[in-house]
Amino acid sequence: MAEAQTQPRRPIESGTPDPFPHMHPTLRRNFGLWKYHDRPRPGVLHHVSHTGEEVWTVRAGTQRQMDLATIRSLCDIADEYADGYIRFTIRSNAEISVADESKVEPLIKALQQAGFPVGGTGPSVTMISHTQGWLHCDIPATDASGVVKALMDELHEEFINERMPNRVHITTSCCQINCGGQGDIAINIQHTKPPKIQHDQVANICERPSVVARCPVAAIRPAVVNGKPSLEVDESKCVACGACFPPCPPMQINDPEHSKLAIWVGGNHSNARGVPSFHKMVVAGLPNNPPRWPEVAEQVKKILYTYRDNARDYERVGEWIERIGWVRFFEMTGLPFTKHHIENWHGSRAKLNTSAHLRF
Ligand code: SF4
Ligand code: SF4
Repeated sequence: MAEAQTQPRRPIESGTPDPFPHMHPTLRRNFGLWKYHDRPRPGVLHHVSHTGEEVWTVRAGTQRQMDLATIRSLCDIADEYADGYIRFTIRSNAEISVADESKVEPLIKALQQAGFPVGGTGPSVTMISHTQGWLHCDIPATDASGVVKALMDELHEEFINERMPNRVHITTSCCQINCGGQGDIAINIQHTKPPKIQHDQVANICERPSVVARCPVAAIRPAVVNGKPSLEVDESKCVACGACFPPCPPMQINDPEHSKLAIWVGGNHSNARGVPSFHKMVVAGLPNNPPRWPEVAEQVKKILYTYRDNARDYERVGEWIERIGWVRFFEMTGLPFTKHHIENWHGSRAKLNTSAHLRF
């Protein structure tokens, strides 16, 4: 018989690691004591503490999904030119801190010579955040870090300079489930056809009730096809969201021609000056065209430079559009406005799957 348990079972903490042991000692010592911070130049943050200590942080862009050699070269730079401390921001910028101002310029030069652009601070286009893409997720219809690399090559000048009205956060998402969140400008996959079902696979791979329950518009029903249990889709209801594909890969929705890209604008997670906002679709049906996605880059630049040239200082993309109105936004950017842009949720109570019941 097992021994009686004398100690309560403790949870295993496997969440975010404690950042303090890895933090630059000056940052650690002055945690909560900062007097002010400024930016001596794009890509450099300067923090001054009430204790009189100062720290400079140099920010460099990376491609996020990095090979070992690239990470090693960044770490070598941090060891040789700085104090050996490096961190990555949520948007894949590498930040290296130094407590001595004379180390800032050599550090910037070393980063630039190794191919890492220095910038991404203040009112610039900082690194694009992206979802996992072909490398790490099993359902994407497009790549993620590839899009980021291609777009950031086009927007390099906006990363190394601070000449936007406010910061611009661009995001990319490789399926419509969009685990990536909101962006001032967001590039998201948009499926345009219902899934094609591989009926001979469904019974072996899919749990049919969970697939049926997953559909947001109740378009999926169980069916028997060629004597085997399978599923069928009411194509007049299907909104081609792709939600059935992850739990049931035989519901093939990714398609080189019909999986398009759409651009959304005005999303914002933050509470600064205003409430968070959802982004809204402004361009649809762009080809999913690796490895450089030129059609997407063209539209993104059109929106970005119209914003840069017309928004007031400190306005984020969404705030600018809110002020000028959507009609003016489409006029100024020259983007076509179609009936597909309008969704006022009229009739959504009947249209959307609002219950957890399975439909047979
Ligand atoms: S956006 Fe979709 S495909 Fe891309 S990583 Fe997230 S869940 Fe996977
Ligand atoms: S889950 Fe989405 S893609 Fe699948 S059938 Fe329903 S609406 Fe269509």
